[in-house]
Amino acid sequence: MEKWRATSRHLLRHFSKDLFDRRMSPSYGTFNRQLSSVATTIQRNPLFSSINSDDISHFKEILGEKNVIHDEEKLVTANTDWMRKYRGSSKLMLQPRSTEEVSQILKYCNSRCLAVVPQGGNTGLVGGSVPVFDEVIINTSSMSKIVSFDKVSGILVCEAGCILENLVSFLDNQGFIMPLDLGAKGSCQIGGNVSTNAGGLRLVRYGSLHGNVLGLEVVLANGTVLDMLRTLRKDNTGYDLKHLFIDYSSCQKLLLAAKRKLGEILSAFEFLDTQALDLISRNLPACATSPFPINVAF
Ligand SMILES: Cc1cc2nc3c(=O)[nH]c(=O)nc-3n(C[C@H](O)[C@H](O)[C@H](O)COP(=O)(O)OP(=O)(O)OC[C@H]3O[C@@H](n4cnc5c(N)ncnc54)[C@H](O)[C@@H]3O)c2cc1C
Repeated sequence: MEKWRATSRHLLRHFSKDLFDRRMSPSYGTFNRQLSSVATTIQRNPLFSSINSDDISHFKEILGEKNVIHDEEKLVTANTDWMRKYRGSSKLMLQPRSTEEVSQILKYCNSRCLAVVPQGGNTGLVGGSVPVFDEVIINTSSMSKIVSFDKVSGILVCEAGCILENLVSFLDNQGFIMPLDLGAKGSCQIGGNVSTNAGGLRLVRYGSLHGNVLGLEVVLANGTVLDMLRTLRKDNTGYDLKHLFIDYSSCQKLLLAAKRKLGEILSAFEFLDTQALDLISRNLPACATSPFPINVAF
């Protein structure tokens, strides 16, 4: 997955597509969309439990009162997709604020056999973010922190609920560019973008979004958290510039300046100190001549 880009790259906090896959698995009934305007023959799988007042109390304990939404009016929007073509009938929307909360929700839903649907900005155009029947909606809007941004490597770590436009402006202010841009950017979230592998307007130049994702932290349907951020940071392909330049702050500044001025043209960057260059010049004069005037300061 390691790909060098002159633009920003991303390590995303994001919860698992397994949630979605599970809804689609044969043991959980046939997956399909419920068209609001067309009578459907699809039946709700009776193996799933229905929400009761104990479940709601339990979720309130985990998430706090205001992050457990069961008011019918408020649920209308969350039950309806962007195109207003698909409509579910969920009785409950949860808004976790952390990976730990997502994990607790899923662990509980799994043990109670409650179906769930992850929902980001609900701008997907194919009804994937709304319930088919009465699934619990897990909405990621409250997970909207930018965790870190490293200017040298161009790596951004953020939570799944970050609105794309906020990431675009954040990076813009840092002098970087987000490789993804699309019409729904004011509402769609990065977790939803990654989940749908959104293409967008800059695909021709920066390629698929998945190619820019370096790692993910995911929560499986049973609540297990997989931290694949750390693993992928240890990716050994290509240069690990961060480690290569630890303590060489002038090199970092030079790399940053080179990336700004050269953009995509920059394809290699190496450090060689004066002592090493002198040694080579003295012993292998035919192989090495300094590309810079002696004692150049960066
Ligand atoms: C005006 C407009 C323009 C668009 N332009 C483009 C375009 O140019 N190119 C393009 O590819 N697409 C485009 N789209 C569609 C685009 O894919 C989605 O808008 C966006 O990527 C979905 O993000 P979202 O946060 O709204 O996800 P949602 O719609 O909320 O969810 C989409 C899917 O992802 C799942 N999901 C969401 N968050 C998570 C998560 N954290 N973990 C696991 N699963 C999750 C949901 O269950 C659902 O299946 C456009 C849509 C609109 C309305």
